[in-house]
Amino acid sequence: MNNAPKLFIETLGCAMNVRDSEHMIAELQSKEGYVLTDDSSQADLILINTCSVREKPVSKLFSELGQFNKIKKNGAKIGVCGCTASHLGKEIIDRASCVDFVLGARNVSKITKALYVPKMVDVDTSYDDSSYVFEEYRGSSLKANINISIGCDKECTYCIVPHTRGEEISIPSNLILDEVKKSADRGVKEIYLLGQNVNNYGRRFSGSHEKINFPKLLNLISEVDGIQRISFTSPHPLHVDDEFIDVFANNPKITKHMHLPLQSGSSEILKAMKRGYSKEWFLEKAFKLREIVPNFTISTEVIVGFPGESDKDFEDTIDVVKKVKFEQMFSFKYSPRPLTKAAEMTNIVDSNIADERLQYLQNLHRGQLRMIMASQVGKTIKILFEELKPNGRIFGRSNNFFSLTANGSEELLGLEKDVLIIDYVNGSLEGKVIV
Ligand code: SF4
Repeated sequence: MNNAPKLFIETLGCAMNVRDSEHMIAELQSKEGYVLTDDSSQADLILINTCSVREKPVSKLFSELGQFNKIKKNGAKIGVCGCTASHLGKEIIDRASCVDFVLGARNVSKITKALYVPKMVDVDTSYDDSSYVFEEYRGSSLKANINISIGCDKECTYCIVPHTRGEEISIPSNLILDEVKKSADRGVKEIYLLGQNVNNYGRRFSGSHEKINFPKLLNLISEVDGIQRISFTSPHPLHVDDEFIDVFANNPKITKHMHLPLQSGSSEILKAMKRGYSKEWFLEKAFKLREIVPNFTISTEVIVGFPGESDKDFEDTIDVVKKVKFEQMFSFKYSPRPLTKAAEMTNIVDSNIADERLQYLQNLHRGQLRMIMASQVGKTIKILFEELKPNGRIFGRSNNFFSLTANGSEELLGLEKDVLIIDYVNGSLEGKVIV
Protein backbone atom coordinates (compact mmCIF):
# COMPACT_ATOMS: atom_id res chain seq x y z
CA MET A 1 0.00 0.00 0.00
CA ASN A 2 2.92 2.40 0.83
CA ASN A 3 4.15 2.41 -2.75
CA ALA A 4 0.66 3.06 -4.14
CA PRO A 5 0.71 6.05 -6.49
CA LYS A 6 -0.49 9.23 -4.76
CA LEU A 7 -3.15 11.59 -6.07
CA PHE A 8 -3.47 15.26 -5.09
CA ILE A 9 -6.65 16.90 -6.38
CA GLU A 10 -7.77 20.53 -6.09
CA THR A 11 -11.40 21.27 -6.86
CA LEU A 12 -12.58 24.79 -7.73
CA GLY A 13 -16.13 26.00 -8.43
CA CYS A 14 -19.57 24.41 -8.01
CA ALA A 15 -21.11 21.23 -6.60
CA MET A 16 -20.99 19.69 -10.11
CA ASN A 17 -17.20 20.02 -10.03
CA VAL A 18 -17.09 18.43 -6.58
CA ARG A 19 -18.97 15.43 -7.98
CA ASP A 20 -16.73 15.30 -11.07
CA SER A 21 -13.70 15.20 -8.75
CA GLU A 22 -15.28 12.36 -6.75
CA HIS A 23 -15.78 10.50 -10.04
CA MET A 24 -12.14 10.96 -11.07
CA ILE A 25 -10.88 9.87 -7.63
CA ALA A 26 -13.10 6.76 -7.83
CA GLU A 27 -11.79 5.78 -11.27
CA LEU A 28 -8.15 6.37 -10.31
CA GLN A 29 -8.48 4.54 -6.99
CA SER A 30 -10.25 1.45 -8.31
CA LYS A 31 -8.58 1.14 -11.74
CA GLU A 32 -5.08 2.51 -11.09
CA GLY A 33 -4.64 1.96 -7.34
CA TYR A 34 -4.13 5.61 -6.44
CA VAL A 35 -4.42 6.81 -2.86
CA LEU A 36 -5.30 10.39 -1.95
CA THR A 37 -2.74 12.78 -0.45
CA ASP A 38 -3.19 16.39 0.60
CA ASP A 39 0.53 17.05 0.07
CA SER A 40 1.06 18.00 -3.58
CA SER A 41 4.87 17.67 -3.24
CA GLN A 42 4.39 13.94 -2.53
CA ALA A 43 1.89 13.35 -5.34
CA ASP A 44 2.49 11.22 -8.46
CA LEU A 45 -0.50 12.92 -10.06
CA ILE A 46 -1.66 16.51 -9.44
CA LEU A 47 -5.15 17.29 -10.75
CA ILE A 48 -6.72 20.76 -10.87
CA ASN A 49 -10.46 20.66 -11.51
CA THR A 50 -11.13 24.16 -12.76
CA CYS A 51 -14.00 26.67 -12.85
CA SER A 52 -14.69 29.30 -15.55
CA VAL A 53 -17.78 31.01 -14.27
CA ARG A 54 -15.79 34.25 -13.69
CA GLU A 55 -12.36 35.48 -14.90
CA LYS A 56 -10.64 35.35 -11.51
CA PRO A 57 -10.33 31.54 -11.20
CA VAL A 58 -8.99 31.35 -14.78
CA SER A 59 -6.15 33.81 -14.24
CA LYS A 60 -5.38 32.08 -10.95
CA LEU A 61 -4.90 28.76 -12.78
CA PHE A 62 -1.63 29.65 -14.50
CA SER A 63 0.03 31.05 -11.40
CA GLU A 64 -0.97 27.88 -9.58
CA LEU A 65 0.46 25.67 -12.33
CA GLY A 66 3.73 27.52 -11.90
CA GLN A 67 3.66 26.78 -8.17
CA PHE A 68 2.85 23.08 -8.63
CA ASN A 69 5.56 22.74 -11.25
CA LYS A 70 8.11 24.10 -8.76
CA ILE A 71 7.21 21.76 -5.91
CA LYS A 72 6.16 18.57 -7.73
CA LYS A 73 8.34 15.46 -7.33
CA ASN A 74 10.29 13.99 -10.25
CA GLY A 75 8.11 12.17 -12.75
CA ALA A 76 4.88 13.49 -11.27
CA LYS A 77 2.14 14.34 -13.78
CA ILE A 78 -0.08 17.44 -13.81
CA GLY A 79 -3.58 17.30 -15.30
CA VAL A 80 -6.02 20.18 -15.82
CA CYS A 81 -9.73 19.30 -15.88
CA GLY A 82 -13.11 21.03 -15.68
CA CYS A 83 -14.64 24.08 -17.33
CA THR A 84 -11.47 26.11 -17.99
CA ALA A 85 -9.98 23.00 -19.62
CA SER A 86 -13.09 22.79 -21.83
CA HIS A 87 -12.78 26.32 -23.19
CA LEU A 88 -9.01 26.82 -23.28
CA GLY A 89 -8.07 23.27 -24.36
CA LYS A 90 -4.57 22.95 -25.90
CA GLU A 91 -3.84 26.62 -25.07
CA ILE A 92 -3.25 25.45 -21.48
CA ILE A 93 -0.37 23.19 -22.56
CA ASP A 94 0.99 25.89 -24.91
CA ARG A 95 1.04 28.38 -22.01
CA ALA A 96 2.16 25.87 -19.35
CA SER A 97 4.32 23.10 -20.78
CA CYS A 98 4.40 21.38 -17.35
CA VAL A 99 0.82 20.22 -17.99
CA ASP A 100 0.63 16.57 -19.10
CA PHE A 101 -3.03 16.43 -20.14
CA VAL A 102 -6.19 18.53 -20.44
CA LEU A 103 -9.60 16.96 -19.83
CA GLY A 104 -12.83 18.91 -20.33
CA ALA A 105 -15.75 18.92 -17.87
CA ARG A 106 -17.64 16.54 -20.17
CA ASN A 107 -14.80 14.04 -20.40
CA VAL A 108 -13.91 13.13 -16.80
CA SER A 109 -14.77 9.46 -17.45
CA LYS A 110 -11.60 9.33 -19.58
CA ILE A 111 -9.26 10.18 -16.68
CA THR A 112 -7.49 6.80 -16.64
CA LYS A 113 -6.90 6.96 -20.41
CA ALA A 114 -5.30 10.43 -20.03
CA LEU A 115 -2.57 8.87 -17.87
CA TYR A 116 -1.24 6.91 -20.84
CA VAL A 117 -1.63 9.41 -23.72
CA PRO A 118 1.13 12.04 -23.52
CA LYS A 119 -0.18 15.61 -23.83
CA MET A 120 -3.74 14.33 -24.32
CA VAL A 121 -6.29 17.12 -24.89
CA ASP A 122 -9.93 15.99 -24.85
CA VAL A 123 -12.47 18.78 -24.50
CA ASP A 124 -15.25 17.34 -26.65
CA THR A 125 -18.44 18.96 -25.24
CA SER A 126 -20.68 16.64 -27.29
CA TYR A 127 -19.29 13.52 -25.64
CA ASP A 128 -22.13 11.69 -23.90
CA ASP A 129 -21.29 9.78 -20.70
CA SER A 130 -24.81 10.20 -19.28
CA SER A 131 -25.11 6.40 -18.99
CA TYR A 132 -21.57 5.80 -17.77
CA VAL A 133 -21.48 4.11 -14.36
CA PHE A 134 -18.52 5.51 -12.44
CA GLU A 135 -16.67 3.58 -9.74
CA GLU A 136 -17.60 4.54 -6.20
CA TYR A 137 -16.01 7.30 -4.08
CA ARG A 138 -17.67 9.91 -1.88
CA GLY A 139 -16.21 12.72 0.13
CA SER A 140 -18.85 12.31 2.86
CA SER A 141 -20.23 9.15 4.50
CA LEU A 142 -23.53 10.87 5.34
CA LYS A 143 -24.35 12.97 2.29
CA ALA A 144 -24.18 11.78 -1.31
CA ASN A 145 -23.87 14.11 -4.32
CA ILE A 146 -25.69 12.50 -7.26
CA ASN A 147 -25.79 13.93 -10.81
CA ILE A 148 -29.18 13.69 -12.51
CA SER A 149 -28.16 15.41 -15.74
CA ILE A 150 -25.11 16.64 -17.61
CA GLY A 151 -24.77 19.93 -19.50
CA CYS A 152 -27.25 22.76 -20.03
CA ASP A 153 -29.64 23.72 -22.86
CA LYS A 154 -30.31 27.24 -21.72
CA GLU A 155 -28.68 30.22 -23.48
CA CYS A 156 -28.18 32.71 -20.69
CA THR A 157 -26.12 35.33 -22.47
CA TYR A 158 -23.59 35.82 -19.62
CA CYS A 159 -22.94 32.12 -18.97
CA ILE A 160 -20.09 30.00 -20.26
CA VAL A 161 -21.45 26.67 -18.92
CA PRO A 162 -23.23 25.48 -22.11
CA HIS A 163 -19.90 26.04 -23.93
CA THR A 164 -17.92 24.05 -21.37
CA ARG A 165 -20.39 21.35 -20.30
CA GLY A 166 -22.31 20.89 -23.57
CA GLU A 167 -25.96 20.16 -24.20
CA GLU A 168 -28.33 18.95 -21.48
CA ILE A 169 -28.95 15.21 -21.22
CA SER A 170 -30.80 13.58 -18.33
CA ILE A 171 -29.21 10.54 -16.67
CA PRO A 172 -31.45 7.43 -16.79
CA SER A 173 -33.54 7.18 -13.63
CA ASN A 174 -32.56 3.54 -12.98
CA LEU A 175 -28.89 4.59 -12.74
CA ILE A 176 -29.81 7.42 -10.36
CA LEU A 177 -31.90 5.08 -8.19
CA ASP A 178 -29.06 2.52 -8.15
CA GLU A 179 -26.72 5.21 -6.81
CA VAL A 180 -29.30 6.23 -4.19
CA LYS A 181 -29.80 2.61 -3.05
CA LYS A 182 -26.04 1.94 -2.90
CA SER A 183 -25.62 5.14 -0.86
CA ALA A 184 -28.45 4.21 1.51
CA ASP A 185 -26.88 0.76 1.99
CA ARG A 186 -23.67 2.51 3.05
CA GLY A 187 -25.48 4.59 5.68
CA VAL A 188 -25.92 7.84 3.73
CA LYS A 189 -28.74 9.95 5.20
CA GLU A 190 -29.01 12.78 2.69
CA ILE A 191 -29.10 12.73 -1.11
CA TYR A 192 -27.99 15.94 -2.86
CA LEU A 193 -29.19 15.93 -6.47
CA LEU A 194 -27.11 17.92 -8.95
CA GLY A 195 -27.77 19.43 -12.37
CA GLN A 196 -27.60 22.80 -14.08
CA ASN A 197 -31.45 22.76 -14.23
CA VAL A 198 -32.64 19.90 -12.04
CA ASN A 199 -36.35 20.72 -12.48
CA ASN A 200 -35.92 20.27 -16.23
CA TYR A 201 -35.08 16.61 -15.63
CA GLY A 202 -36.52 14.12 -18.08
CA ARG A 203 -36.81 16.46 -21.06
CA ARG A 204 -34.16 14.50 -23.01
CA PHE A 205 -32.29 11.23 -22.59
CA SER A 206 -29.63 9.93 -24.97
CA GLY A 207 -31.52 6.64 -25.35
CA SER A 208 -35.17 5.57 -25.08
CA HIS A 209 -36.58 6.12 -21.57
CA GLU A 210 -40.07 5.99 -20.02
CA LYS A 211 -41.64 9.44 -19.49
CA ILE A 212 -40.50 10.89 -16.17
CA ASN A 213 -39.99 14.37 -14.75
CA PHE A 214 -38.29 15.84 -11.69
CA PRO A 215 -41.30 15.63 -9.29
CA LYS A 216 -41.71 11.93 -10.16
CA LEU A 217 -37.98 11.31 -9.71
CA LEU A 218 -38.08 13.00 -6.28
CA ASN A 219 -40.94 10.76 -5.18
CA LEU A 220 -39.13 7.62 -6.41
CA ILE A 221 -35.97 8.58 -4.52
CA SER A 222 -37.96 9.28 -1.35
CA GLU A 223 -39.21 5.68 -1.39
CA VAL A 224 -35.67 4.34 -0.86
CA ASP A 225 -35.33 3.09 2.73
CA GLY A 226 -32.72 4.76 4.88
CA ILE A 227 -32.72 8.10 3.06
CA GLN A 228 -33.87 10.82 5.46
CA ARG A 229 -33.38 13.92 3.35
CA ILE A 230 -33.35 14.91 -0.31
CA SER A 231 -31.95 18.27 -1.42
CA PHE A 232 -31.00 19.54 -4.87
CA THR A 233 -29.34 22.31 -6.89
CA SER A 234 -30.04 24.18 -9.12
CA PRO A 235 -33.66 24.47 -10.19
CA HIS A 236 -34.46 27.07 -12.88
CA PRO A 237 -37.24 29.57 -12.05
CA LEU A 238 -38.78 28.86 -15.46
CA HIS A 239 -39.56 25.26 -14.49
CA VAL A 240 -41.08 25.95 -11.07
CA ASP A 241 -44.56 24.67 -11.95
CA ASP A 242 -47.46 23.56 -9.73
CA GLU A 243 -46.62 19.83 -9.87
CA PHE A 244 -43.07 20.59 -8.72
CA ILE A 245 -44.27 22.92 -5.93
CA ASP A 246 -46.83 20.33 -4.79
CA VAL A 247 -44.29 17.49 -4.45
CA PHE A 248 -41.70 19.87 -2.93
CA ALA A 249 -44.22 21.06 -0.32
CA ASN A 250 -45.77 17.71 0.58
CA ASN A 251 -42.98 15.13 0.42
CA PRO A 252 -41.57 15.15 4.00
CA LYS A 253 -38.13 13.93 2.92
CA ILE A 254 -37.50 16.90 0.62
CA THR A 255 -35.66 19.67 2.46
CA LYS A 256 -37.72 22.85 2.46
CA HIS A 257 -35.07 25.01 0.90
CA MET A 258 -34.63 26.07 -2.71
CA HIS A 259 -31.70 27.77 -4.42
CA LEU A 260 -33.47 29.83 -7.10
CA PRO A 261 -31.04 32.00 -9.11
CA LEU A 262 -32.68 35.38 -9.81
CA GLN A 263 -29.66 36.99 -11.53
CA SER A 264 -31.49 40.34 -11.98
CA GLY A 265 -34.73 41.92 -10.70
CA SER A 266 -35.25 43.91 -13.90
CA SER A 267 -37.42 42.32 -16.59
CA GLU A 268 -35.46 44.31 -19.21
CA ILE A 269 -32.15 42.89 -18.02
CA LEU A 270 -33.64 39.38 -17.62
CA LYS A 271 -34.63 39.61 -21.31
CA ALA A 272 -31.06 40.70 -22.25
CA MET A 273 -29.77 37.78 -20.16
CA LYS A 274 -32.19 35.40 -21.96
CA ARG A 275 -33.35 34.01 -18.60
CA GLY A 276 -36.84 33.42 -19.97
CA TYR A 277 -38.81 34.87 -17.06
CA SER A 278 -39.74 38.34 -15.77
CA LYS A 279 -39.51 40.11 -12.40
CA GLU A 280 -43.22 39.45 -11.83
CA TRP A 281 -42.81 35.71 -12.67
CA PHE A 282 -39.99 35.28 -10.17
CA LEU A 283 -41.87 37.17 -7.43
CA GLU A 284 -45.03 35.14 -8.05
CA LYS A 285 -43.07 31.86 -7.66
CA ALA A 286 -41.16 33.02 -4.56
CA PHE A 287 -44.33 34.27 -2.82
CA LYS A 288 -46.23 31.07 -3.72
CA LEU A 289 -43.45 28.90 -2.23
CA ARG A 290 -43.39 31.06 0.93
CA GLU A 291 -47.18 30.76 1.21
CA ILE A 292 -47.49 27.00 0.57
CA VAL A 293 -44.32 25.57 2.15
CA PRO A 294 -44.04 25.91 5.96
CA ASN A 295 -40.64 27.29 7.13
CA PHE A 296 -39.54 27.60 3.51
CA THR A 297 -36.15 29.21 2.91
CA ILE A 298 -34.76 30.47 -0.38
CA SER A 299 -31.29 31.39 -1.59
CA THR A 300 -30.32 33.09 -4.81
CA GLU A 301 -27.64 34.51 -7.11
CA VAL A 302 -27.55 38.09 -8.38
CA ILE A 303 -25.35 39.74 -11.00
CA VAL A 304 -24.95 43.53 -10.89
CA GLY A 305 -23.50 45.68 -13.67
CA PHE A 306 -24.77 43.50 -16.54
CA PRO A 307 -24.36 45.46 -19.83
CA GLY A 308 -27.10 48.06 -20.15
CA GLU A 309 -28.14 47.91 -16.46
CA SER A 310 -29.59 51.35 -15.63
CA ASP A 311 -30.28 52.86 -12.19
CA LYS A 312 -33.93 51.86 -12.68
CA ASP A 313 -32.93 48.25 -13.49
CA PHE A 314 -30.81 48.11 -10.36
CA GLU A 315 -33.69 49.53 -8.31
CA ASP A 316 -35.79 46.62 -9.59
CA THR A 317 -33.17 44.18 -8.29
CA ILE A 318 -33.19 45.91 -4.90
CA ASP A 319 -37.00 45.81 -4.91
CA VAL A 320 -37.04 42.01 -5.40
CA VAL A 321 -34.40 41.50 -2.69
CA LYS A 322 -36.40 43.71 -0.28
CA LYS A 323 -39.63 41.80 -1.03
CA VAL A 324 -38.32 38.20 -1.00
CA LYS A 325 -35.83 38.57 1.92
CA PHE A 326 -33.57 35.71 0.77
CA GLU A 327 -32.09 33.63 3.58
CA GLN A 328 -28.88 33.41 1.53
CA MET A 329 -27.60 35.42 -1.43
CA PHE A 330 -24.53 35.07 -3.65
CA SER A 331 -23.91 38.34 -5.49
CA PHE A 332 -21.32 39.21 -8.08
CA LYS A 333 -20.19 41.99 -10.38
CA TYR A 334 -20.76 41.05 -14.03
CA SER A 335 -17.65 39.30 -15.44
CA PRO A 336 -17.56 39.02 -19.25
CA ARG A 337 -16.94 35.39 -20.25
CA PRO A 338 -15.43 34.23 -23.55
CA LEU A 339 -17.77 32.55 -26.06
CA THR A 340 -20.83 34.28 -24.51
CA LYS A 341 -23.22 36.69 -26.26
CA ALA A 342 -23.02 39.22 -23.43
CA ALA A 343 -19.25 39.53 -23.97
CA GLU A 344 -20.05 41.13 -27.35
CA MET A 345 -22.42 43.69 -25.83
CA THR A 346 -21.13 47.27 -25.96
CA ASN A 347 -23.35 49.08 -23.43
CA ILE A 348 -20.86 48.40 -20.62
CA VAL A 349 -21.67 49.61 -17.09
CA ASP A 350 -18.92 51.75 -15.53
CA SER A 351 -16.86 49.55 -13.22
CA ASN A 352 -17.07 51.96 -10.25
CA ILE A 353 -20.84 52.15 -10.59
CA ALA A 354 -21.01 48.36 -10.65
CA ASP A 355 -18.84 48.23 -7.49
CA GLU A 356 -21.12 50.73 -5.74
CA ARG A 357 -24.20 48.73 -6.68
CA LEU A 358 -22.66 45.49 -5.44
CA GLN A 359 -21.70 47.19 -2.16
CA TYR A 360 -25.20 48.63 -1.73
CA LEU A 361 -26.84 45.26 -2.48
CA GLN A 362 -24.55 43.34 -0.08
CA ASN A 363 -25.09 45.89 2.71
CA LEU A 364 -28.84 45.63 2.26
CA HIS A 365 -28.73 41.84 2.41
CA ARG A 366 -26.39 41.79 5.44
CA GLY A 367 -28.98 43.86 7.32
CA GLN A 368 -31.79 41.51 6.25
CA LEU A 369 -29.74 38.46 7.22
CA ARG A 370 -29.16 39.81 10.75
CA MET A 371 -32.94 40.11 11.19
CA ILE A 372 -33.56 36.61 9.78
CA MET A 373 -30.88 35.02 12.00
CA ALA A 374 -31.97 36.95 15.12
CA SER A 375 -35.54 35.67 14.59
CA GLN A 376 -34.25 32.08 14.93
CA VAL A 377 -32.79 32.61 18.41
CA GLY A 378 -34.87 30.90 21.11
CA LYS A 379 -36.44 28.43 18.68
CA THR A 380 -35.92 24.66 18.94
CA ILE A 381 -35.33 23.08 15.54
CA LYS A 382 -34.31 19.63 14.24
CA ILE A 383 -30.71 19.43 13.03
CA LEU A 384 -29.17 16.54 11.04
CA PHE A 385 -25.52 16.50 12.13
CA GLU A 386 -23.16 15.82 9.23
CA GLU A 387 -19.63 16.92 10.17
CA LEU A 388 -17.19 17.09 13.10
CA LYS A 389 -15.23 20.34 12.84
CA PRO A 390 -11.45 20.48 13.50
CA ASN A 391 -12.20 22.58 16.62
CA GLY A 392 -14.16 19.59 17.98
CA ARG A 393 -17.55 21.23 17.51
CA ILE A 394 -20.25 19.54 15.48
CA PHE A 395 -21.96 20.93 12.34
CA GLY A 396 -25.33 20.19 10.82
CA ARG A 397 -28.28 21.62 8.96
CA SER A 398 -31.96 22.08 9.61
CA ASN A 399 -34.58 20.71 7.23
CA ASN A 400 -34.78 24.19 5.70
CA PHE A 401 -31.01 24.53 5.28
CA PHE A 402 -30.03 26.72 8.21
CA SER A 403 -26.47 25.72 9.13
CA LEU A 404 -25.65 25.28 12.80
CA THR A 405 -22.70 24.51 15.02
CA ALA A 406 -22.95 23.12 18.56
CA ASN A 407 -20.92 21.39 21.25
CA GLY A 408 -21.15 17.70 20.67
CA SER A 409 -19.16 14.65 19.67
CA GLU A 410 -19.07 12.30 16.66
CA GLU A 411 -21.77 10.07 18.21
CA LEU A 412 -24.19 12.68 16.92
CA LEU A 413 -23.07 12.31 13.30
CA GLY A 414 -25.93 11.11 11.10
CA LEU A 415 -28.49 11.75 13.86
CA GLU A 416 -31.31 14.30 13.76
CA LYS A 417 -31.55 16.06 17.11
CA ASP A 418 -33.64 18.86 18.66
CA VAL A 419 -31.43 21.90 19.15
CA LEU A 420 -32.17 25.13 20.99
CA ILE A 421 -30.90 28.15 19.01
CA ILE A 422 -28.85 30.35 21.35
CA ASP A 423 -27.01 32.70 18.97
CA TYR A 424 -25.79 33.30 15.41
CA VAL A 425 -22.54 34.32 13.76
CA ASN A 426 -22.94 35.82 10.28
CA GLY A 427 -25.01 33.28 8.31
CA SER A 428 -24.65 30.37 10.73
CA LEU A 429 -26.56 29.52 13.91
CA GLU A 430 -25.17 28.48 17.29
CA GLY A 431 -27.13 25.92 19.26
CA LYS A 432 -27.40 23.66 22.29
CA VAL A 433 -28.32 20.03 21.68
CA ILE A 434 -31.38 19.01 23.73
CA VAL A 435 -30.63 15.49 25.03
S1 SF4 B 1 -29.20 27.83 -16.81
FE1 SF4 B 1 -28.16 29.61 -17.61
S2 SF4 B 1 -26.84 30.24 -15.91
FE2 SF4 B 1 -27.46 28.15 -15.49
S3 SF4 B 1 -25.82 26.86 -16.36
FE3 SF4 B 1 -27.41 27.07 -17.92
S4 SF4 B 1 -26.79 28.80 -19.19
FE4 SF4 B 1 -25.63 28.91 -17.25
